[in-house]
Amino acid sequence: MLPRTLHQIGVATVSYNRTLREWETETEQSLLSFPAGKSGEAAARWKAIELSNPALFIILKKMIANYPELQSRAWKIGELILNGHVKLVPSPPDEGLFATVKSRTRDDVTHDITFDGYHFRCTCEDFWKDNCPRIRWHSQRTCTHVAATMATRHIQQEESPYEPITTEAALPY
Ligand SMILES: [Zn+2]
Repeated sequence: MLPRTLHQIGVATVSYNRTLREWETETEQSLLSFPAGKSGEAAARWKAIELSNPALFIILKKMIANYPELQSRAWKIGELILNGHVKLVPSPPDEGLFATVKSRTRDDVTHDITFDGYHFRCTCEDFWKDNCPRIRWHSQRTCTHVAATMATRHIQQEESPYEPITTEAALPY
């Protein structure tokens, strides 16, 4: 059997099955398959997020509906949150360090998210690239780490984070 790369996302693993040429999302209860290719991979990762945390899944889908420019980054944002990479600073100062986010792809890298009273900033390379999405107020640059920080804060502010969230007020931005 050929080696497989497994990606743990919350309660599920996502992998590519070279024999069957399909992406698979597996939990203790189920094994779901998706077509080969990038869209199949994204669908497999989205399913892992949905199975792990339905409320987070809904938040991310709403985020994309409001900010389509975040579409390609959204499952990465979900992975960062589900895999515990986001650590909010308790009672953060009005200006200064707000959170740290461990890199999704590099174990030895952690990014600092700071707030200057107006914008969030991240220490990653993506944050300053021309194609980094800019959203809503103040044209906030929104790398995956900034978005994951904002979504995590939103979830923590909810009384019951794992209840389905359906109101407009629940939007993370
Ligand atoms: Zn970043």
